[in-house]
Amino acid sequence: MSSDQFKEFKVSVIVPIYNEEGNISPLMDRLVPVLQQYHDYEILFVDDGSRDHTLETIKNSKESNSHIHYISFARNFGHQNALKAGLDHVTGDCVITMDGDLQHPPELIPQFIEKWLEGYDVVYTIRREDTRLSFLKRLTSRFFYRLINRLSGIHIPEGAADFRLLDRNVADVLKDIREYHLFYRGLTPWLGFHQIGITYLPEERFSGQTKYSLRKMIAFALTGITSFSLKPLRISVLFGVFFALLAFIYGGYALYMKFFTQSTVPGWASVLISVLFIGGIQLIVLGIIGEYIGKLFMESKHRPHYIIKEKNVAIPPRFVTQEKQEPLK
Ligand code: UDP
Ligand code: MG
Repeated sequence: MSSDQFKEFKVSVIVPIYNEEGNISPLMDRLVPVLQQYHDYEILFVDDGSRDHTLETIKNSKESNSHIHYISFARNFGHQNALKAGLDHVTGDCVITMDGDLQHPPELIPQFIEKWLEGYDVVYTIRREDTRLSFLKRLTSRFFYRLINRLSGIHIPEGAADFRLLDRNVADVLKDIREYHLFYRGLTPWLGFHQIGITYLPEERFSGQTKYSLRKMIAFALTGITSFSLKPLRISVLFGVFFALLAFIYGGYALYMKFFTQSTVPGWASVLISVLFIGGIQLIVLGIIGEYIGKLFMESKHRPHYIIKEKNVAIPPRFVTQEKQEPLK
C-alpha cells in the first residue's frame, strides 16, 4: 500500500476485554493520543461477557469520545472469538488488535503504521524474553511454540502474541475463515502475504489478573496443534507399528526358548506390565483420535462464534456476508 494512496486512512483498533474494569481508562489515556495523529480512527472494545463493571466503564468513556465503539457478548466466548467479532465489525484501512491490560504498549502503533505504509500487509510482534513474567509462564510459552512449530507445517515466531496490524485485505480474508476453533496466531502466518515482525518488551499487566490459567493455556495449545496438523495421528500409527514389532520379536524369542532350549520365558509380571503399558498407549491414541473427532463434531454444528447481547456498531454494509444487518441500539 503506497503512502500516497492512503494519506487519509482510518485506523481501527480491536481490544478484546474480559473483566478489565481497572484497565479501560488507563488504556484510553495512552491509546487515544497515539491515534489522534491520524486522519480517522476507531477503537472497538469487545466485551467478552465481563461480570464486573467493564461495560459501564466503556460506555462512560464513549460519552467523551465518539470514536469509541463496543460490542458486548451474551457470555464469555473466549479471546479468539472476541477478535473475530472485532474483525467482523471494524471498517479501517488497517486493523490493529491488542490486549486490554496494557501489556501491549499503544506507543508501538506508529511503528506498525510506518511498516504498513512501507508496504507490509501484516506487522506482527515478537515478545522479548521478559524476566518479569513468571517462570512458569515463560517455560510453558517456550515449550508451546517449539511444540507447535515442530508439529504443524507453519512457523509461528516464538513469543508471538495477538498484537498485530493487518491490512484491510488481510483482515477481510481472516474474518471469512469460519472454522469453529480459531487460532489467529497460527492463521495469520499461514495466510502468507507480506509480513514483518517487530520486537517489543511487554509491560506488566496494569490491573487485575491474567485470564489464561494453566488449564486454559493447555486447551489453547491443543487447539493450536490440532488445528494445523495431522501429525499426532501419524505419530500414533508409528507407535502402533513400533509396539507390534516389539511384540513380534518378543513372541519369537519366547517360542525359541520353549522349543529349542530347556527353559521357558518366566512370569506373569512381564505379561501384566506389557498389557498395562499397551493398554495405556491405546487409550492415549484413542484420546488423540477423539480430539479430532470432537473438533469435527463442533465444526459440523455450525454454531456462531459469538452471541451479541448489545452493541453500538453495525456490521458495515459492504462487509455483510451471511449475517443480517442489525439496527443500532
Ligand atoms: N480475554 C478475553 N476473553 C477471555 C480471556 C481473555 O477477551 O476469555 C482478553 C483479556 O481481557 C485481555 C486479553 O484477552 O485483554 C489477553 O488476556 P490476558 O491478559 O489475561 O492473557 P495473558 O496476557 O496473561 O496471556
Ligand atoms: Mg495480558
